[in-house]
Amino acid sequence: MELTTWNIPVLALRGLTVFPHMDLTFDVERPISIAALSRAMETDQEIFLVTQKEMGTAVPEEKDLYRVGTVSHITQVLRVSEGSVRVMVEGGRRARMKRLWQSEPFLQANVEALPEQKESEAFLRSARTEALLRQTAVLFDEYAGRVSGLPDEVKTQVEECRDPGYLADFLAQNIRLRTEERQSILEEPSAYIRLRKLNEFLARENDVLAFEGEMEDKVRSQLARSQREQILRTQIRVMQGELGETDDGDEELDDYRARILRLGLPEETESHLLKEVDKLSKQPYTSAESAVIRGYLDVCLEMPWNTQTRERLNVEAARKILDKDHFGLEKVKRRILETIAVRQMNPEGRGQILCLVGPPGVGKTSIAISVAKALNRKLARLSLGGVRDEADIRGHRKTYIGSMPGRIIEAISRSKSMNPLLLLDEIDKLGSDYRGDPAAALLEVLDSEQNCAFRDHFMEIPVDLSHVMFITTANTTETIPRPLLDRMEVIELGSYTDEEKLQIVKNHLLPKQLKEHGLKKTQLRVDDGALRALIRDYTRESGVRVLERRVAALCRKADMQILTGGVKRLTVEEKDLPELLDMSPYPPALHAEREETGVVNGLAWTEVGGEILEVEVNVMPGTGKLELTGNLGDVMKESAQAALSCLRSRTDRYEIDPEFYKNTDIHIHFPEGAVPKDGPSAGIAIATALCSALTGRKVRAGLAMTGEITLRGRVLAIGGLKEKTMAALRNGIGTVLIPQDNVRDLEQIDQTVRAALEFVPVTNVDEVLSRALCPAEKKKKKAAAEPAKPETAEPLAAFAPARSEGGQDALRQ
Ligand code: ADP
Repeated sequence: MELTTWNIPVLALRGLTVFPHMDLTFDVERPISIAALSRAMETDQEIFLVTQKEMGTAVPEEKDLYRVGTVSHITQVLRVSEGSVRVMVEGGRRARMKRLWQSEPFLQANVEALPEQKESEAFLRSARTEALLRQTAVLFDEYAGRVSGLPDEVKTQVEECRDPGYLADFLAQNIRLRTEERQSILEEPSAYIRLRKLNEFLARENDVLAFEGEMEDKVRSQLARSQREQILRTQIRVMQGELGETDDGDEELDDYRARILRLGLPEETESHLLKEVDKLSKQPYTSAESAVIRGYLDVCLEMPWNTQTRERLNVEAARKILDKDHFGLEKVKRRILETIAVRQMNPEGRGQILCLVGPPGVGKTSIAISVAKALNRKLARLSLGGVRDEADIRGHRKTYIGSMPGRIIEAISRSKSMNPLLLLDEIDKLGSDYRGDPAAALLEVLDSEQNCAFRDHFMEIPVDLSHVMFITTANTTETIPRPLLDRMEVIELGSYTDEEKLQIVKNHLLPKQLKEHGLKKTQLRVDDGALRALIRDYTRESGVRVLERRVAALCRKADMQILTGGVKRLTVEEKDLPELLDMSPYPPALHAEREETGVVNGLAWTEVGGEILEVEVNVMPGTGKLELTGNLGDVMKESAQAALSCLRSRTDRYEIDPEFYKNTDIHIHFPEGAVPKDGPSAGIAIATALCSALTGRKVRAGLAMTGEITLRGRVLAIGGLKEKTMAALRNGIGTVLIPQDNVRDLEQIDQTVRAALEFVPVTNVDEVLSRALCPAEKKKKKAAAEPAKPETAEPLAAFAPARSEGGQDALRQ
């Protein structure tokens, strides 16, 4: 390369300087630079590398570039990605740009080589040079000690290099210098001066690094100190906790303490809770134990400790609300008003616990809701059905994982007041097993002597339940644990008659459902005929729950037709019901119609109301076997045996083969075998069916009976008369045989039922049979006491059916 000036593509470098004899790799992205590289590659791979004065200049002009750079050799070009190439260059000789004569598509300049000063051997060996080299070595040593990650070969090169010019270039390329400093090294032709300059920069850099190090140390030690302080503070907190001292630092703990103190709780409770907060302060924030304590404190603080609603004790106001919400139920309402009256006279007195007993859907829950409304108490319900574990009532100790307070505390917390009306549903379904007896826990809850300091296992602190009013509901009193039953005042709610149901559906259920379905009175009319049919043919229940559901179904249909069927209003008549309800009416009861042999209508009482219980008897020639089927309990089986013995002693009287127990097989069956049946009250029905089957005499139509039988044929009193007679009426029965001893219970039976049924009191089985069986058909021979018409059992005048008052209309016949 003898030419001293030549034209060459230019690559403008940003923040980078390339020194002679140095290999360097860098990435290039600017199109003008890539174009310059391609041009160079097309020719002799020589390119002028010169640094820009400002890094930010995108398209540099002549004034933006330093003048001195290196003419370098491109050893490799790699495409790294779209629009970016990696170049490897080997720095060549120093050159000065004379004129940048092309700026597009790439820079091109006319450059002139700078003469390389050749140092004499004497100069290189001179003491001055040696001193300079040593100084460089010392400075570099210091530098290398301060920066990390300097490659070892750099260090050895520096140690071994005796050429001050090269050493200056080498260091300028490899140590941290500012662009101007590098450039000034590049521009310096004299090797000695170049290295001296470099030493100056290196010394200054060492100072900067020393200062930086010092600052870093300071920051580091400060950090360490603050960490140490933090640990110490935590330790102090723990120690303070051990000493029973409080720590003012922690906001959460302070907040808990403030909230506890604000509640003004009894001293014992307050100090217990504060102790828990202290315990919490000793726990690391994230520990499981601290989560448990926090959960506990939250539950305790959420209790409505000081909140009570102002009770309204006013009999008249309460009467209005109860009457408005419910039709009938006079006895229940009266009893509830009495309770309110007592409290009005003596607000401090301990109230009775009411237990509403009756079949489903007769309004037990809804009357309790009305009571809460009348008394201005909040209502909280909890169902005891299936509760077998004491912990359900009393909570789990908080040491258990996932432990919670019991249902009583939970319900009070939910009600957000300390004097709610707690409605305990299904108290008759309370179970008990090895996990403890929930009834005992409940007893404590309900006992006014004890419940002013009820202790829940989870809460641990006493809670005063004495302001809570309790009402319980049940389907039957039979399964309520005795001690609980003794604590409560039982109020019975019976089945509704069809007429009552009509009033309820007209005045309560329909308006309620219309409102819930967004309908106006005028938009859906259901005429009385349809309502009666709904009650009679589309529901079979003691209460009105299904009835309410049917009414809701009609309302839904009305909503739909008004919205999509272009209908303004809907009037429902009986004939529309099958389509609107999407069901056909229940078939009418068959019990009443025919006279049959060996089939008798018994009457049963169940939790959901009364029912007709058929007894069927078949007799076949055989060896005297007795078979009983239909899911019967022991009492029922014994009662069948008793009936059989009783008849055996009367074979003469009823012209039964005296040997029948030897040569006849008897099968007694109660249909609907899926339903368990027990109790003695089917006795006379079994005896009648047996006698009918054995004699072939038919049982009169429209007749039902209930009564226990003794071996001697006496008829004993039974329970559940009200529900049973209601069932008889519902099923189209006209005459009911009842034990004489139950006559006094007729007082309590609904007027409509009394008017519609004929009640025949009986004292022994002969009266029953003479009343129930038709006369023998073929045999004309008169049996001993076989009157064709009943003589021994006349209907009671007082309870004879009222056939003349048009009351029949209201009843299904
Ligand atoms: P229970 O708790 O006895 O099973 P509910 O209280 O749930 O029955 O009653 C079912 C529905 O019947 C409720 O909507 C209730 O308002 C209504 N109801 C029951 N009896 C009457 C009544 N005598 N007057 C008005 N509505 C009643």
